[in-house]
Amino acid sequence: MSDSWDKIVDSAKDFAGTVAGAAGDLYGKSKDYFNIKRLEYQLREKYRVLGKLQYRIEMKEDVAVSEKEELISAITTLREEITEGKDMQYEYITCEGCGSVIPEDAKFCPGCGEQL
Ligand SMILES: [Zn+2]
Repeated sequence: MSDSWDKIVDSAKDFAGTVAGAAGDLYGKSKDYFNIKRLEYQLREKYRVLGKLQYRIEMKEDVAVSEKEELISAITTLREEITEGKDMQYEYITCEGCGSVIPEDAKFCPGCGEQL
């Protein structure tokens, strides 16, 4: 096999590697983004449950202390995970339309559909 053929094969390999790398970055970014969205959704759910629980406490219903403690610790963990996730992310901006926190390179807000 000639040297020039080897060079062609090498450069083709380099190119394939570059494309795969770029696609991987893109996939990683959106995966992180949706992971944070999922955590934020879970957090809202926990707050909702906590609100109900607090109501039951106010109404002097029999609520196990551990039930509330577990909820609060789950909320704290979720909040930390969201903060960590956002820290390792690229820049975020806040949508002027609805206040959603979104990636700076977004074309539209996923929260309200506003064009950015
Ligand atoms: Zn918005």
